[in-house]
Amino acid sequence: MLSSLEVRRQVLEAAREIYNSGMVIGTWGNVSARATDLKGFVITPSGMDYESLNPEDMVIVGYDKQVIEGRYRPSSESPLHLAIYLARPDVGAIVHVHSPFATAFAVAGVPIPVILEETAQVIGHEIPVVPYALTGSRKLAEYAVKTLGETGRAALLSHHGLIGVGASVAQALRVCYVTEQTAQIGIYARMLGPLKGLAEDQVKLLHEGFKKYGQKKQ
Ligand SMILES: [Zn+2]
Repeated sequence: MLSSLEVRRQVLEAAREIYNSGMVIGTWGNVSARATDLKGFVITPSGMDYESLNPEDMVIVGYDKQVIEGRYRPSSESPLHLAIYLARPDVGAIVHVHSPFATAFAVAGVPIPVILEETAQVIGHEIPVVPYALTGSRKLAEYAVKTLGETGRAALLSHHGLIGVGASVAQALRVCYVTEQTAQIGIYARMLGPLKGLAEDQVKLLHEGFKKYGQKKQ
């Protein structure tokens, strides 16, 4: 079990990583993870430069929406994170980015098909589009939970960006990286001809195989 201090460190590290890798600009995007020793989750604070923050500056939000600990306001997307944690006991961490290629699909309102083996392995489904609702709103949280369903790993937020979920921060990050790569290659491949997704049985085979191969049982 991870202590809340360790979770704070992981959340901050991931926030710095999404910034340094160009998946967000400025203070957009956010990261959260369940604090297993508390009744809530650790999330990045709202509108703060990730480089200047310390693990202690992360905010802990309870499952009853109240801030448990933190001197700053939590990310404005906290309602979205909270709704996913309440709906999905299997989700231990959430990463939200505005990466350009995935967001291009989100703007076009087009789901990202499973065109790569790693998309099948890590995500295992096409990445659907959540209907538009204002950022930070409860409607957006509701739509996102519905679109992710019981097992979804990633979803595109219309005119906005991408959310990736996983059992750990590392998994949620990997979901975002693989989604962005799939979107980038999808757009390039589309210039050469129509996009062909992998067959459903192949996707299933790859996804199941990957779970057994390198990951902890979830
Ligand atoms: Zn956003």
